[in-house]
Amino acid sequence: MHDWLVVGAGFAGSVLAERLASQRGETVLLIDRRPHIAGNAFDHLDQAGILIHRYGPHIFHTNSQAIVDYLGRFTAWRPYAHRVLAYVDGQLLPIPINLDTVNRLYGLNLDSAGMEAWLASVREAVARIKTSEDVVVSTVGRDLYEKFFRGYTRKQWGLDPSELAKSVTARIPTRTNRDDRYFTDSFQQMPRDGYTRLFERMLDHPNITVRLGTDYRELQQNPSWARMVYTGPIDEYFGFRLGRLPYRSLRFVHVTRDQQWAQPVATINYPQTEDYTRVTEYKHLTGQVHPQTSLTYEYPSATGDPYYPVPRPENEALFKRYEALAAEEPDVWFAGRLATYRYYNMDQVVAQSLSTFARIDESLGGVSRRGHRLGGAAHAG
Ligand code: FAD
Ligand code: UDP
Repeated sequence: MHDWLVVGAGFAGSVLAERLASQRGETVLLIDRRPHIAGNAFDHLDQAGILIHRYGPHIFHTNSQAIVDYLGRFTAWRPYAHRVLAYVDGQLLPIPINLDTVNRLYGLNLDSAGMEAWLASVREAVARIKTSEDVVVSTVGRDLYEKFFRGYTRKQWGLDPSELAKSVTARIPTRTNRDDRYFTDSFQQMPRDGYTRLFERMLDHPNITVRLGTDYRELQQNPSWARMVYTGPIDEYFGFRLGRLPYRSLRFVHVTRDQQWAQPVATINYPQTEDYTRVTEYKHLTGQVHPQTSLTYEYPSATGDPYYPVPRPENEALFKRYEALAAEEPDVWFAGRLATYRYYNMDQVVAQSLSTFARIDESLGGVSRRGHRLGGAAHAG
């Protein structure tokens, strides 16, 4: 018997397992159907001995000191500011769009004030910004939208930006200065020894038993736990009884080249050409020194592992109905990108998991604060 079953050993499941074990002193069986921990953040040495991310590039960035401090218990950090170029009209141009992007694309020589005025002249008036198309055309106008966003988004999501919630392309800012970093968060750093090592340290606790290659469905009939955290897809948990929630998938093609460097920056995006969306060269992220170099090509796909919840109003409505079922589920807490159907970055999943732990602790009598177990009824959801 375990106090807890935690389904999924990604950030959500691993943070919750660590908190339950170390703060409440409870025993946790942590399972994942994949043969490894770390979920989509899993990294490993490839055949050439280069550290790569099996499920595409994962760049850590956050504005939260608390998240950095929490994860910092399990890793040292390496400073890293991510940079991305987009291959547009035969040139490699900075994305997010900045002053240099516009000057080089259109052969202009604007300063920041000039770019503000130029944007004002090209942007389209949109009465109510609802979709991912609205966000972009109302900021940078139709031509930049067509060149940088429309094709990429159609490839990535299999949907036109006009069919996606504004939150998707709103992830990408527009700048009138020359800042070419992908993110502007106050903390931009990579776990020095990789994500998998971070997870190994997080899960190294006598109260935690990890069982890999194990699907929840295999254990469901003979429960050997009192309470559960579930971080897999929420529609799957309920046997798809209300219908399937759409998830976008990717096929990753990993290659090693016999040359020291292949790209000037970590990631190159392809909004106009190619079947893949982007290509990432890992040594930029990790700082590893190696005579060869490894890259990942990302091919979007309608089928395969669920990676991205698809932000659209009808999907949100269906998720809400599953969420109502989840609230009725006794002694089960749902957390993470798939179980809460949120397009969350890693730091947001960690934050959500820490607050889920606080709710669990509160509803079960706050053993972590008082130092002894008080028991009490669990709350769902
Ligand atoms: P996951 O990592 O998906 O973990 C869930 C785990 O549950 C999986 O390992 C799965 O196998 C397991 N599972 C599901 N169902 C079952 C079951 N029935 N039985 C047993 N196990 C089960 N975030 C960033 O902050 N920066 C980035 O640069 C970044 N890049 C990304 C790039 C890509 C291509 C993708 C797809 C995501 C990226 N993310 C990035 C987001 C990041 O991956 C997620 O925020 C994070 O991994 C979510 O953690 P999670 O625990 O919720 O989910
Ligand atoms: N996007 C785009 N062109 C780009 C980069 C991003 O159209 O060159 C859009 C696209 O819809 C993408 C979204 O912005 O899905 C968010 O981009 P981000 O790089 O944050 O995607 P992720 O890393 O989460 O896949």
